[in-house]
Amino acid sequence: MFLDSASPTEQKVWSKDLEPQLISDWEKQGIYKLSSADKEKPFVIDTPPPYINAPIHIGHAYTYTWMDAIARHKRLMGYNVVFPIGMDRNGLPIEVQAEKEFKMSILTTPREEYIKNCKLLLEKYENSSLTTFKKLGISFNDWNTDKRIGGAYETDSEEYRRLTQETFIILYKKGLVYESEMPSNYCTECHTTISDSEVEYKEDETNLYHIRFSTSQGSDIIIATTRPELLASCKVLLYNPDDQKNKKFKGHTATVPIFNSNVKIIEHSYADPGYGSGVLMVCSFGDLEDVKILRELKIQPTFVIGKNGKMNIPGSELNGLKIKEARNKMAEMLEANGLLVKTERVPHRYPICWRSKGPIEIIPTKEIYLKQVEYKDALLKEIRSMSFFSPKSRKLLEDWINGISVDWAISRTRYYGTEIPLWYCRKCSAAILPEPGKYYVPWRQHAPVEKCGKCGSTEFVGDERIFDTWFDSATSDLYVSGYLWDKKFFEAEFPVSLRPQGKEIVRSWLYFTVLKSYLLFGKMPFKNVWIHMHVVDEKGEKMSKSLGNVVDPMKIINEFGAEAFRAFAFSDNDITEDDVKCSQERVRAAGKFLTKLWNISRFISLFEKVEKIEEKDITDTDKWVLSVLSETEAKVKELNESYKFDKSAFALRYFTWNIFADHYLELVKKRAYGEGFSGAESKSARYTLHHVLKHLLVLWSPMLPLITEKLWKGTYGKESIHKQTYPELPKDYKMSEYTDKIIAFDSSVWNAKKEKGLKNKDQINFEIPKDLQQFSRDIMSLHSLSNG
Ligand SMILES: [Zn+2]
Ligand SMILES: [Zn+2]
Repeated sequence: MFLDSASPTEQKVWSKDLEPQLISDWEKQGIYKLSSADKEKPFVIDTPPPYINAPIHIGHAYTYTWMDAIARHKRLMGYNVVFPIGMDRNGLPIEVQAEKEFKMSILTTPREEYIKNCKLLLEKYENSSLTTFKKLGISFNDWNTDKRIGGAYETDSEEYRRLTQETFIILYKKGLVYESEMPSNYCTECHTTISDSEVEYKEDETNLYHIRFSTSQGSDIIIATTRPELLASCKVLLYNPDDQKNKKFKGHTATVPIFNSNVKIIEHSYADPGYGSGVLMVCSFGDLEDVKILRELKIQPTFVIGKNGKMNIPGSELNGLKIKEARNKMAEMLEANGLLVKTERVPHRYPICWRSKGPIEIIPTKEIYLKQVEYKDALLKEIRSMSFFSPKSRKLLEDWINGISVDWAISRTRYYGTEIPLWYCRKCSAAILPEPGKYYVPWRQHAPVEKCGKCGSTEFVGDERIFDTWFDSATSDLYVSGYLWDKKFFEAEFPVSLRPQGKEIVRSWLYFTVLKSYLLFGKMPFKNVWIHMHVVDEKGEKMSKSLGNVVDPMKIINEFGAEAFRAFAFSDNDITEDDVKCSQERVRAAGKFLTKLWNISRFISLFEKVEKIEEKDITDTDKWVLSVLSETEAKVKELNESYKFDKSAFALRYFTWNIFADHYLELVKKRAYGEGFSGAESKSARYTLHHVLKHLLVLWSPMLPLITEKLWKGTYGKESIHKQTYPELPKDYKMSEYTDKIIAFDSSVWNAKKEKGLKNKDQINFEIPKDLQQFSRDIMSLHSLSNG
């Protein structure tokens, strides 16, 4: 019988209204918390910290539900699972929003005030974005910030920032950090350098201008460009060595229109003979290719775009104009001088900033770099030591590494982030590096030394820059594995057991964590990497506000409950293989299984529990279902070990609904009640019903933690189902071969009755096949067979 007062005997159906109480009980009892005694056999998950200022979207809800299933499965395996939740509170996403809300600018707002406003914004959001995770029943160790393993964390805490700084100090001491002035991706809206991994591309249409250059030969060359405003920095013209029609220009020079400078015309394989006239102009710098070519040709660049995103060409009419204005102005000037042959609209792909979506310009800036180019081969080799789920996702990382051509610019001229812990001697410019162990704020703190070691000067200036946000994020692996507080644990448990994350941040979060770990410790940060694809709408389209197809997880939870959403999340797709389609209808449909599971459990709970039974007393029908359970259970455990929860849910659902409920329960119903059967036969049925249910609830618990908890506590005890481990496999009597035959036979009887207009309980004469004779007593009872 149900032990619980609010048991399923009274509660006729599963209801989403039962969820909040279960969740708050978990929290009150600290059921997922780690205690210091819990450090045996750990499994450490480096959960992605979401941004604090954005609501949890359906993709988060879906993928964290899968991560939760991983954590819960590992607990059932007997692991002490470190499953912390962090909140990402550093960097551009916070700054961009704070600038909007407080109408401030990095260019004019004093630093102290700017930081204060960022903090106000963060306070406003507090941890409200965690509400969705909580309602979904995610089993993070702790919802409160706590400086210990498993504790919730914030990436802008002094603890976290001092760890980021410590990694920098170690890398610096290893000689892996240097400062250099070179052309880099610069966002003219965020006013900072950004790394290649922060560059996105936008497809658009733009004007292609065909411009007339005159040559030293006296003939004209027509050059097609989308960036005529860069003409002042035109350095060389290229044509392809295979391009016969342009060979005639070999050794000649051309005059740049309007600016009248002379540039060489040379052969270079980068020129595409099929693009425009086949002659290409190289300016400093339209894109990163220009950077490479000018460097290769040893040509000094001329910079015509300033950090403010405006033209910097003293003496020109373009000077001080914004880039787009300058482009239009230039077109007008060329037109007026008869130098613009034609203008056409062409498709165009150009780089934008991941955060502000503003255009990227290539501007030379002085930045601090972390070496990476020289370690590409080593990294490509080392990443083979990490297991990828699914295996094909390793290629995303390999492709990114293969494409790297410059070192990582880790400094940013922004305010809200981890400060770069460096000071400089005012006299000789020597860099002063502090010792790790403290959180440093060089722009407002004194240098950590009294005298410059080189020149003896006592005056220093602190570095004013902060780190690239990814330099912080790529520290989470160390933070969650106790680097700061428990070196023994860290040394034993690093590499971290698992990094689960999205494919869109393979090139940033995963790559940078891999790079830093390799440079710091000479090894990979993870044993396993789980990469997920995206959640899309019913038609397979990306969800976006502008398309109006966004599915809000809070709405789904409020309407159908978290458990229905979870049933959907494991219903038919493997998100490591493909994008997953989500709609209200799919969630509603998946939720029907909960009613089925509830009804099965409710029915079984009516019977007295039989814990033990003599082997000889178990009937053949019971042995058959125990065999199928045993097989299913072994398969599910194996699938769960490779995180194939969609496939284990499929196998479990088939067993629960299509075999156990549809056939076994029907076959033994009367026997369980003792109607027409001996006491021993009845006992065997009751033993089997409870045995199967107990196993099923545990097997479902990683995916459906709420309904299984309610049913478990109501039927099998006060201790949470989430404190259990996988039970021993039921004995396999090797009788699962009968499954298809039983299903086929039952169906043929039910169909025959239907055709004759009989009810299921009506008698019928039907021959039991020879190989099902051992089940005949149950079969006859189920179908009311009149023959013997
Ligand atoms: Zn930007
Ligand atoms: Zn000095």
